[in-house]
Amino acid sequence: MFETTLAGSLPKPSWLATPNVLWAPWTLTGRPLQEAKEDATALAIRRQEQAGIDIVSDGEQARQHFVHGFLAEVEGVDFDKKVRMGIRNNRYEADCPTVTAPLRRRRFVHEKEARVARASTARKLKFTLPGPMTLIDTLADGHYGDRVKMAFAFAELLNQEAKDLEKLGVDVIQFDEPAFNVYLAETVEWGVPALEKAAEGLKCATAVHICYGYGIEANIKWKGTLGESWRQYEQTFPALDRSRIQQVSLECRQSHVPPELMKLLKTKTVLVGAIDVASEKVETPEEVAATLKLATEFVDPERIQACTNCGMAPMTLGAAYAKLRALTQGAALARKTL
Ligand code: ZN
Repeated sequence: MFETTLAGSLPKPSWLATPNVLWAPWTLTGRPLQEAKEDATALAIRRQEQAGIDIVSDGEQARQHFVHGFLAEVEGVDFDKKVRMGIRNNRYEADCPTVTAPLRRRRFVHEKEARVARASTARKLKFTLPGPMTLIDTLADGHYGDRVKMAFAFAELLNQEAKDLEKLGVDVIQFDEPAFNVYLAETVEWGVPALEKAAEGLKCATAVHICYGYGIEANIKWKGTLGESWRQYEQTFPALDRSRIQQVSLECRQSHVPPELMKLLKTKTVLVGAIDVASEKVETPEEVAATLKLATEFVDPERIQACTNCGMAPMTLGAAYAKLRALTQGAALARKTL
């Protein structure tokens, strides 16, 4: 009950990348950069273990961004042909690379860091990949002429990557789909089917993370427009509950998501976001336990994992690991009091 885990990313040490920013530039280049990425991965695992996390991750230490880390090794994506476009339904603008030819994975993209992570821990290991809908929302299309077709082409590549990760001994593969909170009808229509395609044939646990984004300014502004009650999950959870994806990671702490929406996940393991990533203020174990207890009103405790709301990449290292410790202590407290 209440196994602890995290949504995925963790801050990088300053000897690897510029601290406290998204898309942080690397501090090193060439061979020293590769070595630093591997050291940071092993260290992130060690620090998660020290914080008491049950299902640890590589902390996404070897990628600059959760989408572009994967894209960097995909043939057919032209990074020199950037198009300024509105993404997440025009929530913010980004310079997006263009798909100019059929998509093909050049190699096992995350092999090095996945090997290091696997060798660094005996605990369960989670590895995150971007979901197909979020991937295509971050790209211009100069080849397929059909965004759904492009999403399914990516789903095929993600499936290859996921199967390679599974072979390395990864226990949980999580697809990050923040776009599922933006394009609600499309999520039901083709987003969930594309996600299932990406997870097809996997024997390890499969998860999807759906959030309202990092605590950056554009997201805080967007959240301000969503009103008092955020009911996006209400439209997408029934489709996810019918899918073969086993775990759903969602926001709870300091969010306006009505907790009763968790009831819609009747058969899934629910990763309850009990840690706010938009604030450096560390939760108390009591606050974490209260969030978990609230979730038990709607979900059988045996199906609940204690998690963070989202990735922690833009936070300070100190706050991020203090929050993970609070998560572990809060889960222990909730277990004791239930
Ligand atoms: Zn997230």
